[in-house]
Order: sequence, then C-alpha cells, then structure tokens
Amino acid sequence: MNKDLICNVNSTLIDAWKTINKTGKGIVFIVNNEKKLVGVLTEGDIRNYLLEKQDFKTSISTVMNTDFVYTTVDKSYENIINLFNEKVKIIPVVDSAFRILDIYEYSLNIRLPVATPDLTGREFEYLTDAFLSTWISSSGPYIQRFENDFSNFCGVDFGVAVSNGTVALHLALVALDIGAGDEVIVPDLTFAATINAVLHAGAKPVIVDIESDSWCIDPGEIRLSVTSKTKAIIPVHLYGQPCNMDAIMEIADEHNLFVIEDCAEAHGAEYNGKKVGSFGHIGCFSFFGNKIITTGEGGMCISRNKSLANKMKILRDHGMSQNKKYWHDQIGFNYRMTNLQASIGVAQLERIESILYERKLIEQKYREILNQIEHIVFQKDDIPDRKKVTWFVSILIKENRDELLGMLNKEGIDARPFFYSLSRIPLYKEYLFSNKISSRISEKGINLPTISSMSDSFFKKIKNIILNNWMNVSKYE
Ligand SMILES: *Cc1c(COP(=O)(O)O)cnc(C)c1O
Repeated sequence: MNKDLICNVNSTLIDAWKTINKTGKGIVFIVNNEKKLVGVLTEGDIRNYLLEKQDFKTSISTVMNTDFVYTTVDKSYENIINLFNEKVKIIPVVDSAFRILDIYEYSLNIRLPVATPDLTGREFEYLTDAFLSTWISSSGPYIQRFENDFSNFCGVDFGVAVSNGTVALHLALVALDIGAGDEVIVPDLTFAATINAVLHAGAKPVIVDIESDSWCIDPGEIRLSVTSKTKAIIPVHLYGQPCNMDAIMEIADEHNLFVIEDCAEAHGAEYNGKKVGSFGHIGCFSFFGNKIITTGEGGMCISRNKSLANKMKILRDHGMSQNKKYWHDQIGFNYRMTNLQASIGVAQLERIESILYERKLIEQKYREILNQIEHIVFQKDDIPDRKKVTWFVSILIKENRDELLGMLNKEGIDARPFFYSLSRIPLYKEYLFSNKISSRISEKGINLPTISSMSDSFFKKIKNIILNNWMNVSKYE
C-alpha cells in the first residue's frame, strides 16, 4: 500500500497539497489519531477552496469530504469493480474499525490489460516537437528518420513507413506483382491480417500447418504445398518466435518464390544472428498499440532491394510519379504514415533494447512462478539458431483452457486465447492445405498480460488462480 497517500486530519491544506504533489495521484485519504479513515480530499477540492478563501493554513478537516467511496476486503471483485467510474479511480479498503488496509487503483490493482504501450522515453517530447512544427501529416523529418533508424536496426538499407501492419503486407504483395491466379502460402496459426492481405491482393492463400516446437510455419508443409501457381510464402514470426528462415529461403530459391516475412509480433527477434525481416524480399512490421514498439497505428516494409523499396514508396503515395506531380503510372494507395506517428516511433526505437529486455524479464518471472505446474508449457525459447523475443508471454495449458481464461478474466486479468487457427474459421476454410498441429495448439494457447510495470501482486494473483481455482476444476473432471 502507498502510505504517501495518507494525511492526518490535524494537518493543513498545504500538507495535503504537498502530498498530492509528491504522489501525482490527485487525492489524499485522511485519518484521525486512531488511524481511522475520516475523509478524502482531492486536488480539485483544494483548488476550489483556495480560489474562494486563499488560505493554505486551513485545517484539512474543514475542507475534506466525509462522504466518499470505500470498500472492505470481503467484497467480491464484481462488487469492487462497480465502484470505479470516470471520477473514482482510487479506492481505500478498510477493516471493521475503518482503518485503511489497502488502496486499490484501477490501473494497478483492478484490471490488468494484456498490454499497455510503454511511452516513458522521449515520445511526448518528439510528438510535441512534431506537433509544434505543424508537420502533422505525412511529410516531415521524423518519417525518414524512423525509416532509416528502423531499417538500420533490422540490418537492411531501406524502410517504407506505412499506416499499419496490414497494409504493409498488402503493399508488399502488390509491389511484387502478386495477384489473381497466384497462390501464396501462409501459416494456419496467425492473426487474420496475414491471410486478408493475400485475399485483398486477389491471390489465393494456401494455409499450411506449423511446427510443434516453434509454433511457426513448417517448411516441410510449405514444400508439400508448392504448386506451379505458387508465387510467395508469408512466414509469420509468431508471438516473437523466428521461423526456420534457412529452410524457407532454400525452398523459395528452388522454386523461384518471393518471401514476405510477417514480423508484426517479432521486432528484434533473430535467426542465426540476423534480425527477422532481413531474410525475405520484404519484411513487414506493425506498430499497433499492443505490439513490441508502437506508433499508435503504423507499419513498415523493409527491404534490401532499392528498386523494390522505391516501388513501394510510389504505391504508398497514390502511385504518383516521383518526378512528375499528379502523374500516375500505377494504381496506388494512400498507405502513408504521419510525422506524428513517426515521432513516437523514433522515441520508441531509441529504447527498443530496454523494452525487449523488460519484456524478457516479465517472461522469466512468469516462468519462475509457474514452472512447478506441470500442466503448463511455455513457448520454447531454446531452439538452436533462433533468438526469440517476448511479445505476449505465451503458454499452452493441457486441459480446460477456456475455464482458466474465464477465471482470470473474472478476477480482472485480461489473458487472451491464442488466435483461432485460420482453417477453423469458415471464411478461410476453403484454403486449407494442412492443420494437424495448428488446430491443437490454437485450442490450448493463452497469451498472458505482458506489461513492463506489472506489479508482483498480479503475478501472485495469477499463480493463485491457476493453483487454487483452475487446478481444482481440473482435478475433479
Ligand atoms: C498485428 C498483426 C498484423 C497487423 O498489423 P496491424 O498494424 O494491426 O494492421 C499482421 N500480422 C500479424 C501476425 C499481427 O500480429
């Protein structure tokens, strides 16, 4: 509990103001000499009082609210969550003698999201700079800087920033002239954007199975599914795990296929010491709010090939000729990123190593607290040649996965099921080639909240829910 949030009833407004200034929480809880909670005072209360009376030395007791929201330890989660609203974000927990036992904050104790963007670097500074420069649209210095810095980070020469990860995939397909009559091989276990991009390009997706250890596309299945119409492969580095890029590039070379890496979940992951995105003809990234680094919405295509990168730049900008304004040689799109988004991206990229490290620590902590539970299998992180990064900490649970998800969600922990395997979704069923392993893994998988500022109490809570609630259900079945 944060003791800094508590003031004695005999203190003055200036004391309360100092406390509020220190904690930044906008509120103090007021106790009497018996430690009994007697009132609450907010920053707004103090401000209103001072505007009228201009006296900082007034006793807290004359200004505090004695009618306030509180709860007790015996209340259910549902009961407590209902107490929070637009104005009430922080609630004291009291015992029968009205002494404060704990203070619940919505964002820290009540609802743990599966992800929150970590914007604790120079994001706001750069964003403000971009804003004040008035270059808030898709021209401005941050865009090129982000393209250069990010492609450098990945070990390639060219980056083309776009409005999101889905259009990055679409742009890559179009730039490689993939369309009607072509087949594109995709893994069965991925986010739907991978296959949607293929369908929007007018090509036919071919869904293949994954490897049981890495959960990534299986090169053996790729080989079996290649036909005379196959034009490209889209390996997806799933949940931070790199695909077997040597095997995939070998098949691509043999059959003259393009490789578009879907790196939306794997910024910084490595295969054989090289970053993902640098193996294929084009690597596609997403900077959506829950990805490893974010620009709010955003994406990028990276490539070693200058003319391919240039083609993507033209297609991104309405297919407009670069030397002749308003002249169009191709039917293009507006897939541009804004300078505002790029400014956030530049700041995120400055800290990517520490962001990756923090995420790894979170995964290690989960591994420590859950490692004795034999029903849980963590995503493999010791496959030779592959250096996984942590996007969402991902586990497989032997049985009753959905019961566990329900229990976690009921206690305010936003754990997620894995993606449905594409072939299980009626919309995509007709494109199935193979799905033996993917359908099994998809049904057992859970993504756990992966947040750098996650408090120890949440780790404990998750462990307790698994050990007590879920293990009991599993035992009696
Ligand atoms: C997030 C994601 C995308 C799409 O990225 P957006 O920026 O959300 O459009 C594509 N592929 C995979 C594997 C993803 O996880």
